[in-house]
Parts: sequence; C-alpha cells; structure tokens
Amino acid sequence: MEKKNIWEFYNEAQLKEIETFAKNYRDFLDNGKTERECVEVTVNMIEAAGYRELPKLVNEKAKLKAGDKVYNVLMNKMIILFIIGDDKLSKGMNILGSHIDSPRLDIKQNPLYEEDGIAYLDTHYYGGVKKYQWVTIPLALHGVMVKKDGTIVEIKIGEEDDDPVFFISDLLPHLAAEQMEKKANKFIEGEALDIIVGNKPIFIKKDEGADKKEELAKDLIKKGILEILKQSYDVEEEDFISAELEVVPAGRAREAGFDRSMILAYGQDDRVCSFAGLVAMLEAKKLKRTACLVLADKEEIGSVGATGMHSRFFENSVAEVMNLTGDYSELNLRRILASSYMLSTDVGVAYDPFYKSSFEKRNTAILSGGVLFKKFTGSRGKSGSNDANAEYIGYLRKLMEEKNIRFQTAELGKVDVGGGGTIAYILAQYGMNVIDSGVPVMNMHAPWEATSKADVYEAKRAYAAFISGVCIA
Ligand code: MN
Ligand code: MN
Repeated sequence: MEKKNIWEFYNEAQLKEIETFAKNYRDFLDNGKTERECVEVTVNMIEAAGYRELPKLVNEKAKLKAGDKVYNVLMNKMIILFIIGDDKLSKGMNILGSHIDSPRLDIKQNPLYEEDGIAYLDTHYYGGVKKYQWVTIPLALHGVMVKKDGTIVEIKIGEEDDDPVFFISDLLPHLAAEQMEKKANKFIEGEALDIIVGNKPIFIKKDEGADKKEELAKDLIKKGILEILKQSYDVEEEDFISAELEVVPAGRAREAGFDRSMILAYGQDDRVCSFAGLVAMLEAKKLKRTACLVLADKEEIGSVGATGMHSRFFENSVAEVMNLTGDYSELNLRRILASSYMLSTDVGVAYDPFYKSSFEKRNTAILSGGVLFKKFTGSRGKSGSNDANAEYIGYLRKLMEEKNIRFQTAELGKVDVGGGGTIAYILAQYGMNVIDSGVPVMNMHAPWEATSKADVYEAKRAYAAFISGVCIA
C-alpha cells in the first residue's frame, strides 16, 4: 500500500477551503498557547454556537434533549463538550479526545534571582523536551499569578511587536570546545534553562539619601524587576508562590515553504487535533449518537492530576449529562462508557528523510499523507499501548472510504527505537473501542513544530465523519 501526497486530490474549491481553515487554525494557535488560553478560546467559540455550561444546567435542573449542546470546564484547564444525539445515551457516544497542554518551561515557585548582575527566573521544564532547542530563541511568558485575596492576574508578555521577550543564554562557539564534546542530553542541563529577565539596576534618584542607597545596595537588578512587576501587575515576589507561569516560544504560527503548504508553530502537539475536533463539533448537524469532545490537560506528563485524563472529571461529566437527559443510573453509566467509540486524537510522527534510520517507512505517516490511524503506540513490544480492535478499524475504514477521506496508517517509529503514548489506553479501561488518530508532525516537541495544512484539514473531515457515524452493529 503506497502512501500518496494528498494535495493532488483537491479541486480548486477545496484548496480554497483548506486555506481558510488553515488561517483559522493559526489564529487558534496564536490565541491558545497554554491550556488555560485554549480553554478560554474554546469557550468563546462554543458559547457563540449555543453551548451551555453544565453546572448551570444542573442548578436549573434543566432537561436535555436531542440537539442540545453542553460544556463543562475544570479549573480553567480541561473542557468537555457534548452534543446530545437522537439515540438514548446508554447506547453510547462518539468521543473525540485530545490534549491542550504542550511541552514548555514552567516557572518555579521561588524563581526570581540575580547572579553577577543578571536577573533570572528559574524554570522546571514540562514534558519531553530536547533542552538544547530552547536556548537563544525569543521566549514569551504566559499564565496567571493568584494573589492572597484571590485576585487572578493574567500575564501574557512577549507576543506583541513592542513587547519585550526573554531568552536563555548559550556559550559562544569560540569557547565551547569542551561543551561540544558533551552528549546532547547533557549539553544543556535542566537547571541551565533559566530565562534572563533583566540587567538594569533599580533607579535611585540622585537626591535620595545615603540611607536609601545603603538599604537598596544588594540585588539592584532583581529589585528593579520587582518594581516593574509591582507597577505593571500589582504583584509581589511572594505572589510567584501561587502562580502558573509558562515559558513558550514567542511569536505567531507561520505558514512554511514557498508553496505555503505547511504550518510552523509552537504547541501543535496536540492543539492541532484539538482544533480539528472542535471545528468538527461546531460544524455538526443533527446527530444520531451523542458526540463528545474532551480537551484534556497534563497529557505530556502522564495524564495525571485533576485536569488530566486519569481524573474522574470525564466520567462525572457524563453522569451529570445522563442525569439531565433522565437516563441516569449507575448501570446506564457503565453501559454508555462501554458502548462508546473513541478517537484518541493526538499527533503522530511524520517521516523525516534526514533521519531515515529511525523509521520503518512503510508503516510511518508522511507529511501531506492524510489523517493517520495508529492501531497501537507503546515501546519495546507495544508495551503501554492501547491496541485497537480490528473490527473497530474495519468500521472506521468503511466510514472514511464512504466520505472519501484520505487516511494513512502509522506507527511511531522503527521497532525498539523508542516509543510514546497517548490518552487512548485510559478510555479503553471502560471497555470502549478506542484508536489513536491524528496529524503527522515533523520535529514534534520542538519549540516550532511542522504540520501539513492538508493533513489538518483531512483530520477535521475525519473527525466530522466520526461523530456523525452510527456504529458497527
Ligand atoms: Mn500529544
Ligand atoms: Mn506530546
């Protein structure tokens, strides 16, 4: 089975549609560079489309009926959407699940320090990063600082043209002979990823007494930064204790190539599938089965925590929705979960001709080869993988072919070279059919990741077909 470049299959109208879709996708990426921002952007989009908040409906003891649209948010970092279908919920749902967290550098809780005249914010990296990729590039700071009185201060600095950016230093090649001998995983150490935030001492007026100068004598650069933080955001150094600040590459998502066929942007793993799924939900017409979209947090660190896929938030939300449809019982909840279908929509690796030896070409996705389906992930003999059921894949093949959707099958890489996982195995625990499906990404987990516009578009078409699909029997 040969893999083909799918651009050749599109007519002029479709090519135009792809460009519009890709522009919207880039806007989504620019407005959602953290999980919090993704949730906010998503809520804005779906509220405009008539979605209502689940806790409010629960309070009102509302009755849900076919066609109703509902969403539930947890801690501003995870969101679940439902469109109620015509069938009884206990017959199962069609679920799309992706994640909105991405590899990055998180600011520690006691982060601000000055060393030899330079002020730094100390970081702890999040997710699987090649640390050497993060030095010497412009970085932005996104997140929140929560003050003791509960005030939430939103921080977003480094994205506007006249914003300052931050950076991590690296040694000049002239003096790097010893550094260059190190292995890549030691080349830049985790503790060497602190961002430089200032180099100018706090301003002391000439007429201020000697006392004042004495009192301020130490850490003048750090004091200067604290003064700016106080003036700009009304926060103190202690407010870093209750903050979630993420360091991400500064700048907007870009089109790549003379032919503008690709998108180069931060955080496409996995905001690309999140966006494709979201648009599929927004475009959905009347549905037979209830559709659900999960945008989870914490996938990159093992789907842990309250907002990760392992938490009960998903199951609890389903129970609440069932209750509002008048179909709730513990047994019905078990039934709906067991008889649901899921696409674990997460990115896969795109074949890279420069690194041939890491791939087995026939079973690797290619850029512009269409949406990918991954029967299993895992490493060392499929360990840790959700191995999707052949019957389920048969159903999906038929569905994709009926809608003329270009897809390819893929593994993550050559056997025993490495591996990875997604949220697929977590939902599989309910006994539901789950398979990984996503967009091929080149230089995944790098500050700037590449995708093909055609693949993103085809993923949206696949997810739209999936949620309106019926079921095997
Ligand atoms: Mn992912
Ligand atoms: Mn990832």
